[in-house]
Amino acid sequence: MQAFYATQFVLQLPAGHRFPMGKYQLLRDRLAAEVPEVQLMQAEPATDGELALVHTPGYIAAISDGTVAPAVMREIGFPWSAAMADRARRSVGATIAACRSAQRDGVAANIAGGTHHAYADKGGGFCVFNDAAVAARLMQAEAARSRRQPLRVAIIDLDVHQGNGTARVFQADPTVFTLSIHGQKNFPFRKEAGDLDVDLPDGTGDETYLHALEIALGDLERRFEPDLVIYLAGADPHEGDRLGRLKLTWDGLEARDRRVFDWAWQRGVPLAFAMAGGYGNRIEDTVQVQVNTFRAAADYARRWHNRPR
Ligand SMILES: [Zn+2]
Repeated sequence: MQAFYATQFVLQLPAGHRFPMGKYQLLRDRLAAEVPEVQLMQAEPATDGELALVHTPGYIAAISDGTVAPAVMREIGFPWSAAMADRARRSVGATIAACRSAQRDGVAANIAGGTHHAYADKGGGFCVFNDAAVAARLMQAEAARSRRQPLRVAIIDLDVHQGNGTARVFQADPTVFTLSIHGQKNFPFRKEAGDLDVDLPDGTGDETYLHALEIALGDLERRFEPDLVIYLAGADPHEGDRLGRLKLTWDGLEARDRRVFDWAWQRGVPLAFAMAGGYGNRIEDTVQVQVNTFRAAADYARRWHNRPR
Protein backbone atom coordinates (compact mmCIF):
# COMPACT_ATOMS: atom_id res chain seq x y z
CA MET A 1 0.00 0.00 0.00
CA GLN A 2 1.33 3.38 -0.97
CA ALA A 3 1.21 6.34 1.42
CA PHE A 4 2.23 9.82 0.37
CA TYR A 5 3.69 12.51 2.60
CA ALA A 6 3.89 16.23 2.04
CA THR A 7 7.40 17.12 3.15
CA GLN A 8 10.61 15.53 4.42
CA PHE A 9 10.96 18.16 7.09
CA VAL A 10 8.72 19.31 9.89
CA LEU A 11 7.29 22.74 9.08
CA GLN A 12 8.54 25.13 11.75
CA LEU A 13 5.82 26.96 13.66
CA PRO A 14 6.30 29.64 16.31
CA ALA A 15 7.14 28.29 19.80
CA GLY A 16 4.01 27.24 21.68
CA HIS A 17 1.82 27.04 18.54
CA ARG A 18 -1.11 24.74 19.25
CA PHE A 19 -0.96 22.71 16.04
CA PRO A 20 0.99 19.47 16.62
CA MET A 21 3.00 19.56 13.40
CA GLY A 22 5.40 16.92 14.75
CA LYS A 23 2.72 14.21 14.52
CA TYR A 24 3.34 13.62 10.83
CA GLN A 25 7.00 12.78 11.36
CA LEU A 26 6.13 10.57 14.35
CA LEU A 27 3.56 8.74 12.24
CA ARG A 28 5.99 8.21 9.37
CA ASP A 29 8.65 6.88 11.73
CA ARG A 30 6.23 4.43 13.32
CA LEU A 31 4.85 3.25 9.98
CA ALA A 32 8.37 2.67 8.67
CA ALA A 33 9.20 0.63 11.77
CA GLU A 34 5.93 -1.22 12.38
CA VAL A 35 3.81 -1.46 9.23
CA PRO A 36 6.27 -2.55 6.54
CA GLU A 37 3.50 -3.04 3.94
CA VAL A 38 3.22 0.73 3.77
CA GLN A 39 5.41 2.17 1.04
CA LEU A 40 6.21 5.79 1.96
CA MET A 41 6.58 8.22 -0.93
CA GLN A 42 6.89 11.98 -1.21
CA ALA A 43 4.08 13.71 -3.11
CA GLU A 44 4.47 16.23 -5.88
CA PRO A 45 2.96 19.64 -5.18
CA ALA A 46 -0.45 20.31 -6.74
CA THR A 47 -0.20 22.75 -9.65
CA ASP A 48 -2.08 26.03 -10.00
CA GLY A 49 -4.31 24.38 -12.61
CA GLU A 50 -5.17 21.49 -10.29
CA LEU A 51 -5.91 23.79 -7.36
CA ALA A 52 -8.09 25.92 -9.65
CA LEU A 53 -10.51 22.99 -10.05
CA VAL A 54 -11.75 24.12 -6.63
CA HIS A 55 -10.00 27.32 -5.55
CA THR A 56 -10.22 30.81 -6.99
CA PRO A 57 -7.14 32.06 -8.89
CA GLY A 58 -6.91 35.06 -6.54
CA TYR A 59 -6.72 32.87 -3.44
CA ILE A 60 -4.18 30.48 -4.99
CA ALA A 61 -1.95 33.42 -5.98
CA ALA A 62 -2.28 35.07 -2.57
CA ILE A 63 -1.23 31.88 -0.76
CA SER A 64 1.68 31.44 -3.16
CA ASP A 65 3.11 34.92 -2.80
CA GLY A 66 2.16 35.64 0.80
CA THR A 67 -0.37 38.40 0.14
CA VAL A 68 -3.33 36.75 1.88
CA ALA A 69 -5.39 39.20 3.92
CA PRO A 70 -4.34 39.05 7.60
CA ALA A 71 -7.90 38.17 8.67
CA VAL A 72 -7.85 35.11 6.38
CA MET A 73 -4.41 34.06 7.67
CA ARG A 74 -5.73 34.36 11.22
CA GLU A 75 -8.60 32.04 10.35
CA ILE A 76 -6.17 29.54 8.85
CA GLY A 77 -4.13 29.72 12.04
CA PHE A 78 -0.62 29.32 10.60
CA PRO A 79 1.76 32.21 9.96
CA TRP A 80 2.51 32.54 6.24
CA SER A 81 5.86 31.29 4.99
CA ALA A 82 7.05 29.96 1.64
CA ALA A 83 7.50 26.56 3.32
CA MET A 84 3.91 26.65 4.61
CA ALA A 85 2.60 27.45 1.12
CA ASP A 86 4.69 24.64 -0.41
CA ARG A 87 3.55 22.18 2.23
CA ALA A 88 -0.10 23.06 1.56
CA ARG A 89 0.36 22.32 -2.15
CA ARG A 90 2.13 19.04 -1.47
CA SER A 91 -0.55 18.00 0.97
CA VAL A 92 -3.10 18.34 -1.85
CA GLY A 93 -0.68 16.51 -4.14
CA ALA A 94 -0.51 13.66 -1.64
CA THR A 95 -4.29 13.13 -1.73
CA ILE A 96 -4.23 13.30 -5.53
CA ALA A 97 -1.47 10.67 -5.59
CA ALA A 98 -3.35 8.53 -3.06
CA CYS A 99 -6.51 8.64 -5.20
CA ARG A 100 -4.60 7.53 -8.30
CA SER A 101 -2.87 4.80 -6.33
CA ALA A 102 -6.15 3.61 -4.79
CA GLN A 103 -7.69 3.32 -8.26
CA ARG A 104 -4.85 0.90 -9.13
CA ASP A 105 -4.38 -0.92 -5.81
CA GLY A 106 -7.69 -0.54 -3.96
CA VAL A 107 -6.40 1.41 -0.94
CA ALA A 108 -3.85 4.22 -0.52
CA ALA A 109 -3.21 7.09 1.87
CA ASN A 110 -2.09 10.63 2.44
CA ILE A 111 -0.01 11.01 5.64
CA ALA A 112 -1.46 14.51 6.08
CA GLY A 113 -4.39 16.22 4.38
CA GLY A 114 -8.05 16.08 5.24
CA THR A 115 -8.04 19.88 5.14
CA HIS A 116 -11.81 20.10 4.99
CA HIS A 117 -12.31 23.61 6.39
CA ALA A 118 -10.87 25.23 3.24
CA TYR A 119 -13.38 26.94 0.91
CA ALA A 120 -12.87 27.97 -2.71
CA ASP A 121 -11.62 31.42 -1.75
CA LYS A 122 -10.38 31.11 1.84
CA GLY A 123 -8.88 28.73 4.36
CA GLY A 124 -9.66 28.18 8.01
CA GLY A 125 -9.05 25.91 10.99
CA PHE A 126 -5.48 24.86 10.00
CA CYS A 127 -6.63 24.22 6.41
CA VAL A 128 -5.18 26.12 3.44
CA PHE A 129 -6.39 24.20 0.36
CA ASN A 130 -9.08 21.50 0.31
CA ASP A 131 -7.18 18.35 -0.68
CA ALA A 132 -10.16 16.01 -0.93
CA ALA A 133 -12.15 18.48 -3.01
CA VAL A 134 -9.30 19.13 -5.45
CA ALA A 135 -8.51 15.41 -5.74
CA ALA A 136 -12.18 14.51 -6.34
CA ARG A 137 -12.48 17.05 -9.15
CA LEU A 138 -9.16 16.03 -10.69
CA MET A 139 -10.05 12.33 -10.62
CA GLN A 140 -13.31 13.22 -12.33
CA ALA A 141 -11.46 15.19 -15.01
CA GLU A 142 -9.01 12.32 -15.58
CA ALA A 143 -11.82 9.75 -15.73
CA ALA A 144 -13.77 11.85 -18.23
CA ARG A 145 -11.18 10.95 -20.88
CA SER A 146 -12.18 7.30 -20.81
CA ARG A 147 -15.81 7.17 -19.65
CA ARG A 148 -19.09 8.85 -20.49
CA GLN A 149 -20.66 8.89 -17.03
CA PRO A 150 -19.05 11.23 -14.51
CA LEU A 151 -16.88 9.54 -11.87
CA ARG A 152 -18.94 9.60 -8.67
CA VAL A 153 -16.96 10.35 -5.54
CA ALA A 154 -18.14 9.88 -1.95
CA ILE A 155 -16.25 11.88 0.67
CA ILE A 156 -16.71 10.15 4.03
CA ASP A 157 -15.54 12.66 6.61
CA LEU A 158 -15.22 11.19 10.11
CA ASP A 159 -13.03 13.91 11.55
CA VAL A 160 -14.78 15.25 14.65
CA HIS A 161 -15.22 18.67 13.03
CA GLN A 162 -17.69 19.26 10.22
CA GLY A 163 -16.26 19.31 6.69
CA ASN A 164 -17.79 22.71 6.07
CA GLY A 165 -15.52 23.74 3.18
CA THR A 166 -16.05 20.42 1.40
CA ALA A 167 -19.83 20.59 1.90
CA ARG A 168 -19.93 24.07 0.45
CA VAL A 169 -17.75 23.28 -2.56
CA PHE A 170 -19.99 20.38 -3.61
CA GLN A 171 -23.34 21.82 -2.50
CA ALA A 172 -24.74 21.98 -6.03
CA ASP A 173 -22.78 19.01 -7.42
CA PRO A 174 -24.71 15.72 -7.63
CA THR A 175 -21.56 13.79 -8.66
CA VAL A 176 -19.82 14.19 -5.28
CA PHE A 177 -21.56 13.00 -2.10
CA THR A 178 -20.40 14.62 1.14
CA LEU A 179 -21.00 12.73 4.38
CA SER A 180 -19.81 14.26 7.65
CA ILE A 181 -20.25 12.81 11.14
CA HIS A 182 -19.15 15.42 13.68
CA GLY A 183 -19.60 17.04 17.06
CA GLN A 184 -22.67 19.24 16.97
CA LYS A 185 -21.30 21.89 19.32
CA ASN A 186 -17.74 21.78 18.03
CA PHE A 187 -15.93 23.96 15.47
CA PRO A 188 -17.01 25.15 12.89
CA PHE A 189 -19.83 26.88 14.72
CA ARG A 190 -21.66 27.74 11.51
CA LYS A 191 -22.05 24.43 9.69
CA GLU A 192 -22.69 24.09 5.97
CA ALA A 193 -25.29 21.70 4.58
CA GLY A 194 -23.61 18.66 3.06
CA ASP A 195 -25.42 15.74 1.44
CA LEU A 196 -25.55 13.92 4.77
CA ASP A 197 -24.66 15.51 8.10
CA VAL A 198 -24.78 13.66 11.40
CA ASP A 199 -24.48 15.87 14.50
CA LEU A 200 -23.37 14.11 17.67
CA PRO A 201 -23.50 15.50 21.20
CA ASP A 202 -20.38 15.98 23.32
CA GLY A 203 -19.42 12.81 25.13
CA THR A 204 -20.74 10.38 22.49
CA GLY A 205 -19.12 6.97 23.03
CA ASP A 206 -18.34 3.97 20.86
CA GLU A 207 -21.74 2.33 20.75
CA THR A 208 -23.76 5.38 19.77
CA TYR A 209 -21.09 6.48 17.32
CA LEU A 210 -20.86 3.15 15.53
CA HIS A 211 -24.63 2.94 15.34
CA ALA A 212 -24.75 6.42 13.78
CA LEU A 213 -22.05 5.39 11.30
CA GLU A 214 -24.01 2.29 10.32
CA ILE A 215 -27.16 4.30 9.67
CA ALA A 216 -25.21 6.92 7.72
CA LEU A 217 -23.52 4.32 5.49
CA GLY A 218 -26.93 2.76 4.80
CA ASP A 219 -28.32 6.17 3.89
CA LEU A 220 -25.33 6.91 1.64
CA GLU A 221 -25.80 3.57 -0.06
CA ARG A 222 -29.46 4.22 -0.82
CA ARG A 223 -28.74 7.62 -2.30
CA PHE A 224 -25.43 7.30 -4.12
CA GLU A 225 -23.27 4.75 -5.87
CA PRO A 226 -19.64 5.85 -5.61
CA ASP A 227 -16.81 4.91 -7.97
CA LEU A 228 -14.24 6.25 -5.50
CA VAL A 229 -14.27 6.93 -1.75
CA ILE A 230 -12.12 9.57 -0.08
CA TYR A 231 -12.09 8.91 3.67
CA LEU A 232 -11.04 11.51 6.25
CA ALA A 233 -9.90 9.31 9.12
CA GLY A 234 -9.60 12.02 11.76
CA ALA A 235 -8.10 10.88 15.06
CA ASP A 236 -9.85 13.65 16.97
CA PRO A 237 -12.99 11.71 18.03
CA HIS A 238 -10.62 9.86 20.44
CA GLU A 239 -11.34 10.30 24.13
CA GLY A 240 -7.80 11.57 24.69
CA ASP A 241 -8.20 14.45 22.23
CA ARG A 242 -8.15 17.95 23.65
CA LEU A 243 -10.46 19.42 20.97
CA GLY A 244 -12.69 16.51 19.97
CA ARG A 245 -15.06 16.23 22.98
CA LEU A 246 -16.28 12.79 21.90
CA LYS A 247 -15.39 9.68 23.89
CA LEU A 248 -14.34 7.07 21.37
CA THR A 249 -11.89 4.45 22.62
CA TRP A 250 -9.04 2.85 20.66
CA ASP A 251 -11.33 -0.08 19.92
CA GLY A 252 -14.17 2.18 18.85
CA LEU A 253 -11.97 4.05 16.40
CA GLU A 254 -10.54 0.86 15.01
CA ALA A 255 -14.06 -0.51 14.52
CA ARG A 256 -14.95 2.76 12.76
CA ASP A 257 -12.02 2.48 10.36
CA ARG A 258 -12.62 -1.18 9.63
CA ARG A 259 -16.29 -0.54 8.97
CA VAL A 260 -15.47 2.13 6.39
CA PHE A 261 -12.76 0.01 4.72
CA ASP A 262 -15.09 -2.98 4.76
CA TRP A 263 -17.94 -1.00 3.26
CA ALA A 264 -15.75 0.09 0.33
CA TRP A 265 -14.22 -3.38 -0.06
CA GLN A 266 -17.60 -5.13 -0.18
CA ARG A 267 -18.72 -2.79 -2.95
CA GLY A 268 -15.43 -3.00 -4.85
CA VAL A 269 -14.90 0.75 -4.55
CA PRO A 270 -11.31 2.04 -4.28
CA LEU A 271 -10.64 4.11 -1.18
CA ALA A 272 -8.05 6.82 -0.54
CA PHE A 273 -7.75 8.15 2.98
CA ALA A 274 -6.23 11.21 4.61
CA MET A 275 -5.29 11.78 8.24
CA ALA A 276 -7.31 14.91 9.01
CA GLY A 277 -7.31 16.16 12.62
CA GLY A 278 -5.80 14.86 15.83
CA TYR A 279 -4.88 16.95 18.85
CA GLY A 280 -4.22 14.45 21.59
CA ASN A 281 -3.40 15.59 25.10
CA ARG A 282 -0.59 13.14 24.45
CA ILE A 283 0.38 13.45 20.80
CA GLU A 284 1.55 9.83 20.91
CA ASP A 285 -2.11 8.85 21.41
CA THR A 286 -3.12 10.66 18.23
CA VAL A 287 -0.33 8.91 16.36
CA GLN A 288 -1.42 5.56 17.83
CA VAL A 289 -4.96 6.07 16.47
CA GLN A 290 -3.46 6.77 13.07
CA VAL A 291 -1.08 3.79 13.17
CA ASN A 292 -4.14 1.63 13.91
CA THR A 293 -5.88 3.11 10.86
CA PHE A 294 -2.89 2.16 8.71
CA ARG A 295 -2.82 -1.39 10.09
CA ALA A 296 -6.48 -1.81 9.18
CA ALA A 297 -5.87 -0.27 5.76
CA ALA A 298 -2.93 -2.59 5.13
CA ASP A 299 -5.22 -5.58 5.76
CA TYR A 300 -7.64 -4.31 3.15
CA ALA A 301 -4.85 -3.53 0.70
CA ARG A 302 -3.74 -7.17 1.03
CA ARG A 303 -7.27 -8.35 0.30
CA TRP A 304 -7.44 -6.15 -2.77
CA HIS A 305 -4.12 -7.51 -3.94
CA ASN A 306 -5.22 -11.13 -3.50
CA ARG A 307 -8.75 -10.79 -4.81
CA PRO A 308 -9.80 -12.99 -7.71
CA ARG A 309 -9.95 -11.12 -11.02
ZN1 LIG B 1 -10.88 17.89 13.23
